[in-house]
Amino acid sequence: AALDPADGERAYALDREFVFHSWSAQGALKPFVVAGAAGCEVWNYDGERYLDFSSQLVNTNIGHSHPTVVAAIQKQAAELATVAPSHANLARGEAAQRIVEKAGPGFAKVFFTNGGADAIENAIRMARLTTRRHKVISTYRSYHGNTGAAIASTGDWRRIPNEYAFGHVHVFGPFLYRSEFHSETAEQECERALRSLERTIQAEGADTIAAILLESVPGTAGVLTPPVGYLEGVREICDRYGIVWIADEVMAGFGRTGEWFAWQGADINPSRATPDLIAFAKGVNSGYVPAGGVVISPAIAAAFDERVFPGGLTYSGHPLAMASIVAALDAMTEEGIVENAKTIGEKHLGPGLRALAEKHPMIGEVRGMGVFWALDLVTDRGTRAPVGADVIGRLKAELMARHVLPFAADNRIHVVPPCIVTPAEVERALVAYDEAFTAVAAG
Ligand code: PLP
Repeated sequence: AALDPADGERAYALDREFVFHSWSAQGALKPFVVAGAAGCEVWNYDGERYLDFSSQLVNTNIGHSHPTVVAAIQKQAAELATVAPSHANLARGEAAQRIVEKAGPGFAKVFFTNGGADAIENAIRMARLTTRRHKVISTYRSYHGNTGAAIASTGDWRRIPNEYAFGHVHVFGPFLYRSEFHSETAEQECERALRSLERTIQAEGADTIAAILLESVPGTAGVLTPPVGYLEGVREICDRYGIVWIADEVMAGFGRTGEWFAWQGADINPSRATPDLIAFAKGVNSGYVPAGGVVISPAIAAAFDERVFPGGLTYSGHPLAMASIVAALDAMTEEGIVENAKTIGEKHLGPGLRALAEKHPMIGEVRGMGVFWALDLVTDRGTRAPVGADVIGRLKAELMARHVLPFAADNRIHVVPPCIVTPAEVERALVAYDEAFTAVAAG
């Protein structure tokens, strides 16, 4: 349909009058109006196109408006638009089968949810019910979602005004650039973070700990790639104390790191680092229809063969979501989209961002893999003092002015395009980042 700038004005006015936004003081919001999108681009009602290097909320892994996913949703809507979770449905079975196959031999079944937070909620419930323990250990540098146990598990500032659930214990995970353990090498950071985790378990009482909940690569907290050996160490600790390991792959999963799941990464030995439960959402269907879920180990699945699982959702395994998962996973497999993410990271984004860091002293560290990168911005490379919100605000404005949709968190710019991004699009974005850093440094 032809774009009408008047629709853009109407969308903005309606939003400001009637829409209540997430995580914001409502008064001063100035939302960017999106009219449409395809591939790695979005556009407004003036027809101005922007490169989406945010993947919205780091979820459009397959890009916008993938034609076979859109067609699958349309076809499913015409055949069966909704169904009770207790009935069997072909799309749901096919989606679950594909997800279990991608997760590998350590997994048996999938419980579907509406998104990431309720995936975490149900994974915690499964861990508590099967261990008959109540505490959950997670890290301060984490985000796990906006519901009862998920927000109490979250480490960042969003937990504090929402801390009504009990039984949550936090630890510092490994992060060499801003080490809490005074480490100088990745090996030290790994060993010390594992030791601190184990000491916390002992001090809390190992027989009170149901689960260790970790983002395989903490995302919103700054793309904190775990050091070699860390996830294997977590597996060992869980086995030693009979604790369930929940891998939160909501942001890191389904291609973002260049793997189907981040815990299957190149530096990780998946046979020694297989979680018991995987929470997923976002990239599983790139958010075309809200969906998430928990991939469940054979032992935990079997624990509910005779015993009732006391959890459920009206829309668990919703047909439109399921059809979009099947189509998205098939397209990602057939089109080599996960492999593309890996190559882009190794050959284009990684080298390109490191070259930017050579030029711009504000970039203290470049971290990431695949299409999952963070630029940790500092006022001084020696002290590593984070830049303030004013600098991030100016960078965002400079990037928008260059038609790149940015993702910013704290003192960082996260470079997180869809997994389908091309080398040419990366080049375009790198020019914009380069110019934006130059402009902000000059200003
Ligand atoms: N877990 C992680 C790692 C996330 O990044 C998010 C969302 O950003 C969530 C959980 C919550 O997912 P949702 O917003 O779909 O509830």
